[in-house]
Amino acid sequence: MDRKQQEYKYLFGPVPSRRLGISLGVDLMPHKTCSLDCVYCECGRTTHLTLQRDEYTSVDAIQKELASFLSSGPVLDHITFSGSGEPLLHSHVREVILFLKREFPQYKLALLTNGTLLSESRVREDILEIDIVKVSVDTVSENIFIPLNRPHPDLNIAAMMDGLFSFKELFQNQLWVEFFLVPGMNDDPAELRSIKTILDAIQPDRIHVNTLDRPGTEKWVRAAHQEKLIHIADCLGGADLIGRSPMDTKKRRNIGNFRQHLLSTIKRRPCTAEDVSKIMGTHISETKRLLDVLAKRGEIEKQEMPGGAFYLMKL
Ligand code: SF4
Repeated sequence: MDRKQQEYKYLFGPVPSRRLGISLGVDLMPHKTCSLDCVYCECGRTTHLTLQRDEYTSVDAIQKELASFLSSGPVLDHITFSGSGEPLLHSHVREVILFLKREFPQYKLALLTNGTLLSESRVREDILEIDIVKVSVDTVSENIFIPLNRPHPDLNIAAMMDGLFSFKELFQNQLWVEFFLVPGMNDDPAELRSIKTILDAIQPDRIHVNTLDRPGTEKWVRAAHQEKLIHIADCLGGADLIGRSPMDTKKRRNIGNFRQHLLSTIKRRPCTAEDVSKIMGTHISETKRLLDVLAKRGEIEKQEMPGGAFYLMKL
């Protein structure tokens, strides 16, 4: 293991996020430790399906990595708690948030969550200082929730929605909701009307509609067409569609170890050669060449999708 890998075990990117600009990812959780096992997940199947909060990774080690990375004052739009598991399962998330607010107050914080733990008041209170909390709401019906999100058996959608309502009442910053459309599963007009009713009551600051654009866990999950996405965004009351984010080349970082950084990035999220080129600040033709070398060596996998060729970790 080289020095870079040791240094940044819990951080990834900065990546050009479609929602958050240039975002440094903080992955608090071991790979695929989650309360859901969504059919569309970009990180593969959940290997540890749990509702148990714990200090899954050392807070001390995470804070050391953050201090080391941020000490040079990198240009970032957000520091984002996300990754390949559910960040709110980490019992010490609040400690990391307060550390960042105290030591690096110039950075905005975002958190991407599946919302399953918001029914617990302690969890809601843990994240009050985050600037943007984005919660997934793919369905409000139990009969869709189970096959689509394959939840932990002790979860139910009604309690989750109650938790989201309670959180909205308490939270003073930006609350965003993301609806992930899986054609044939959660696009029934009656379901969309039910979701809209709930969202009208919650009044999030933004609603995003997303669909598959890189390989998901189940090969049968397909991306929705643009016209369908526009229609759904309309049904949900003028939601925004998520599009690919351009990246300002001046903000590119110089990445010394291409292979190492690539592996830590695609472990959390499959990427196209263009994504990798933007993240690493490397020329696109050189990036493609390096990716193909790694794919030929069998170190990574290449998968053709309607949105282009994606590179991902071999399962
Ligand atoms: S998409 Fe998010 S919530 Fe769903 S299984 Fe993957 S990590 Fe968990």
